Amino acid sequence: MSDSKIKAPRGTFDVLGDQAASRTALEVRARSILEGAGYERIETPAFEATELFARGVGESTDIVKKEMFTFEDGAGRSMTLRPEGTAPVCRAYVEHGMHKRRQPVKLWYLSSFFRHERAQAGRYREFWQVGAEALGSEDPAVDAESITLLATLLAETGVTDVRLRLSSLGSVESRSEYRERLQAHLRAHEDSLSEDVRSRIELNPLRAFDSDHPGTRTVMASAPRLLEHLSTEDAAHFEQVRALLDAAKVTYEIDSTLVRGLDYYTRTVFEFTSASLGAQSGVGGGGRYDGLVERLGGPATPGMGWAAGIERILLAGDRSQATPAAPPPVELFVAIDDQGHDVRAAGFGLVSEARTAGLTAQMDLGGRSLKGQLGHANALGARFVAIVGVEQTTLRDMQTGDQQPVATDAVVHAVLRGQHDL
Ligand code: ATP
Ligand code: MG
Repeated sequence: MSDSKIKAPRGTFDVLGDQAASRTALEVRARSILEGAGYERIETPAFEATELFARGVGESTDIVKKEMFTFEDGAGRSMTLRPEGTAPVCRAYVEHGMHKRRQPVKLWYLSSFFRHERAQAGRYREFWQVGAEALGSEDPAVDAESITLLATLLAETGVTDVRLRLSSLGSVESRSEYRERLQAHLRAHEDSLSEDVRSRIELNPLRAFDSDHPGTRTVMASAPRLLEHLSTEDAAHFEQVRALLDAAKVTYEIDSTLVRGLDYYTRTVFEFTSASLGAQSGVGGGGRYDGLVERLGGPATPGMGWAAGIERILLAGDRSQATPAAPPPVELFVAIDDQGHDVRAAGFGLVSEARTAGLTAQMDLGGRSLKGQLGHANALGARFVAIVGVEQTTLRDMQTGDQQPVATDAVVHAVLRGQHDL
């Protein structure tokens, strides 16, 4: 009896073929946009102390309450597979003393994240995000630049039917007064609210704006709006973010019901959706998180950033634009016309020497006949083929068909010169 096949876990997927190629193309594009704007690459570990997310994302959020993959390491410490990238980047900022560098420090990542969600199209348990975080400046230009860069990425990847919704949550101080007003409104209509929203009136009343429960929606339609209760400074900050987005010709809608699923946001929040995605319409979003670094034990540091889902960009994007560059052409294919150990070793050595010299080189690894090897070289579109034999080595120019004997240790030189002559 044979053993049953093992499949990838539910909500996860393998990346291969065209998928791998479009991801590479997307990564190249993201890198050029972000590094061109002064963002540096950062990668953090795939798992962190659970405490980082409990404190950084917030105990009352869906992510922390029900979506984390948490496990114990060998020593009984609680670890969690990262569900998002902002808290880890802030941890790294503090850990590496990045506040001593010129501010803002701008960092970007492209990594996989883990959330225990109901798997469906566009929603996975391991998924990828490209993200950008700018730490150390509260200048509204940071907000506007950050949003503009994501708008550019989505435009360049051909994501269609894009909507950008924008709002401000104010600073923590201005929000606390508003929170009480909202809580009073919710309590006054408690009977019409969903169980979930009712249970979060104390902890996270703002999330009520996210509910799709009919009763809750009616209550929220008449709820006071945070945007109308911003402090003078917060309102001025938001005004400038808007003016700068206008200057950059980024189209947006103000949506005073926009709240984000994470506790740490302050001031600017935004979300990009694409109608072409159907139910899971969120492509990316983010905002300002001026208290987060301090909450993680660092110095008071403002921050602003976003994350966008790679799978959703690829789903909503223009496939033709995602077509990656073809793999580099094979400059030298080494064929052997004898399967003896010495000839194989000479051929293998030649491939290695060619690669060291900067050429792209390949040889057949399947023990095929000479005819089969030459067919392989043709299929690869190899520019030169060296045929290594017991007696001699021959170099063939595949473009002209010219062929001449050459010492094995002179092949690389001849190929380099031959290319130069073209
Ligand atoms: P949603 O409302 O779809 O649950 P979210 O608010 O939880 O999204 P964020 O935490 O803001 O999402 O993450 C940013 C982006 O990451 C989303 O806009 C989406 O493109 C992508 N994303 C989030 N969760 C998943 C998932 N489980 N599978 C695939 N992509 C995801
Ligand atoms: Mg979610």
